[in-house]
Amino acid sequence: MTEDRNNRSCQEFQEHLAELIASGEDASRNPHLQTCANCRALLADLETIAEAARQLFPIEQPKEDLWDRIELAIKKEEGPIQPD
Ligand SMILES: [Zn+2]
Repeated sequence: MTEDRNNRSCQEFQEHLAELIASGEDASRNPHLQTCANCRALLADLETIAEAARQLFPIEQPKEDLWDRIELAIKKEEGPIQPD
């Protein structure tokens, strides 16, 4: 039986999976996934969750718009200051 060894490598893989995803690497190309359907399913689940999270909390914001708002905020702050 090689099940124990499989579970062990799954555990090791899953411990690094979050880092792998966070690093921006293509986790699906990890060699462990070529042999392990369990972890492929896990990764698919995580990607579904990540996709849902992106839709709930969109992080893509036009930078120019953001800068405009920062400039506006600065100007607002400067506005009311009256020289004594
Ligand atoms: Zn695995």
